[in-house]
Amino acid sequence: MIQENFSLRALNTFGIEAHARFYAPFYKVEGLLELLNFVRANRLPLLVLGGGSNVLFTKDFDGVVLHNRISGKRIVQEEDEWVWIEAAAGENWHELVMWTIDHELGGLENLSLIPGYAGAAPIQNIGAYGVELKEVFHSLEAVEISTGKIFSFTAAECRFGYRDSVFKREGRNQFIITNITLRLQNMRCGKPYHYRVEYGDIAKQLEVMGVQQLSPRAVSEAIIAIRRSKLPDPSELGNAGSFFKNPLVSAAHYAQIVAEYGQTPHYPAEDGKVKIPAAWLIEKCGWKGKRVGNTGSHSRQALVLVNYGGATGKEIWECALQIQQSVKEKFGIALEPEVNVY
Ligand code: FAD
Ligand code: NAP
Repeated sequence: MIQENFSLRALNTFGIEAHARFYAPFYKVEGLLELLNFVRANRLPLLVLGGGSNVLFTKDFDGVVLHNRISGKRIVQEEDEWVWIEAAAGENWHELVMWTIDHELGGLENLSLIPGYAGAAPIQNIGAYGVELKEVFHSLEAVEISTGKIFSFTAAECRFGYRDSVFKREGRNQFIITNITLRLQNMRCGKPYHYRVEYGDIAKQLEVMGVQQLSPRAVSEAIIAIRRSKLPDPSELGNAGSFFKNPLVSAAHYAQIVAEYGQTPHYPAEDGKVKIPAAWLIEKCGWKGKRVGNTGSHSRQALVLVNYGGATGKEIWECALQIQQSVKEKFGIALEPEVNVY
């Protein structure tokens, strides 16, 4: 059912009050195709929403918001070491991770507690604690908005990059992802499994928890504990996670920053580039924990902008632009928003 002048406040983790001219959830691909006929017939702008954990509404949306509620997950193929699972796009991501762990499948544990739905995971190739979705991704199905045709995309066709995919570039606003298929490791097959525990405090946290034998569940629990200790819970303090991507700069630019500011945290990145944590750059500009009206940079993680209550999307966006400008002036780096701004 299509509703008019619909409040999106409960549907975005920033908790921003914005209205959609039209809103409709869809529970099946057939329902989505019918709604797309309505969108095309009325030539309306379209926004597809999952969990709303990576969006910032700076104004009302003068078009149709389609809310992905297609559910279902299943094992589609099993072959000794590998198991392929399919998840409908409206499945809650973290619940999916827990389901794979319950089925003794390895591969998603480092991606525990990321908010949002499965269908949005490929959009920015979600990543955390040294693991990216692309490492376990097999394929996805998506409906082309202009024709209603269903297309299948392999990992190569998704052109995954650092917090990036074809759906953020050439394919932007052209497809609605309806399901994803992942290839995970069967933990019962007896083959060696490569745990990813070298990142940050994971090993330390496992030790604190007294873990003697690694398992996907133990790693997941360690990640959950670290995340809970550091990141604001959107149900208590509105936010959309990291507001900006970590910039990848040339080696020469990095050397210039070190020459000017001394020791700078950095990590090797694609194409010989150097990744500098955006949180460090923002902190060096004096923004960490700074409040501007109803918004600001979080005191424990400078990269997360928060809604202290009653903030407008415009207010948060203006704060983000000020941070962007500070970092540009001080370091010559143009921070790119990770959050999708509407
Ligand atoms: P939404 O916010 O609903 O949508 C995001 C974008 O994708 C929008 O442009 C939307 O139009 C589009 N979209 C959504 N669903 C579809 C679909 N089915 N088809 C086509 N387009 C679609 N991200 C990480 O990568 N790593 C993290 O560790 C991480 N931690 C986070 C922690 C917190 C506390 C928060 C609030 C966010 C975090 N995020 C993280 C960001 C966010 O959770 C992820 O990007 C997540 O995948 C977004 O899913 P969603 O369903 O909420 O997407
Ligand atoms: P952190 O551990 O304090 O590290 C700060 C930054 O340094 C991270 O962004 C990370 O880049 C980079 N980094 C740290 N150790 C690294 C290593 N061994 N190799 C490569 N890069 C390294 O970060 P945090 O804020 O607490 O977040 C922890 C993880 O959760 C990160 O992976 C982060 O991306 C993810 N996260 C993402 C969001 C989001 O909205 N996108 C929100 C919260 C947390 P990477 O970000 O590239 O890993």
